[in-house]
Amino acid sequence: MRRFSDNRIGETMLDLLAPGPYHCYLCGRESVLDAEGLCEECRTQVLLCPTPSYLQPLDGLSVGLQYNDLLKRAILSMKMHRNRQFAPFLAQYLTIPDAWQADVLVPVPMHPARELVRGFNHSELLTQYLSARTKIPYSSALLAKTRYSLPQKRFLDPAARRKNIRNSFTADPACKGLRIVLIDDIFTTGATVYECAKTLKQAGAIRVYACCVASSSR
Ligand SMILES: [Zn+2]
Repeated sequence: MRRFSDNRIGETMLDLLAPGPYHCYLCGRESVLDAEGLCEECRTQVLLCPTPSYLQPLDGLSVGLQYNDLLKRAILSMKMHRNRQFAPFLAQYLTIPDAWQADVLVPVPMHPARELVRGFNHSELLTQYLSARTKIPYSSALLAKTRYSLPQKRFLDPAARRKNIRNSFTADPACKGLRIVLIDDIFTTGATVYECAKTLKQAGAIRVYACCVASSSR
């Protein structure tokens, strides 16, 4: 196994970061909670997602939940308002199939300018929690966003999204021979993870999978 320089967050730290045990993760109300930290009302709105169809160059896709207004609020709160406590909640729905034999988890990178403004990369935060749980190492050094692009949400048409993100990433030659799992929050048309997978494979990755918290693809 290769060694990667990124630090992992220890399990103990995860416990310290988690909010109190009696407040629902999503609505924050004090309530009787289920094992996932949800009140009865939110529970009915957190729905597992059947795996959406995907295309090459992706070799597999794992998605946890169906994207809806409740999840949208949680994800936006994490991304835009730096409410990092949503990360461990959302990360529990990321699942890596054993058959993938993953060598390393790679968060979908942000352009450095955007990351500077936002203060952190939410996909990297999700990846840290997943890495701590699965013991699969992660690296933010294998893939970088080197071209600035407009936010994908501005484009509805899949072709426009592909065009917007094209040639935006650069892979490190160290990804040669690795089975890589890309980690992101939402799978919509797949344009971003397809572009990441293409870039990683051109640099020698043998398999590239994607694992996302939720999907809004139909
Ligand atoms: Zn709730």
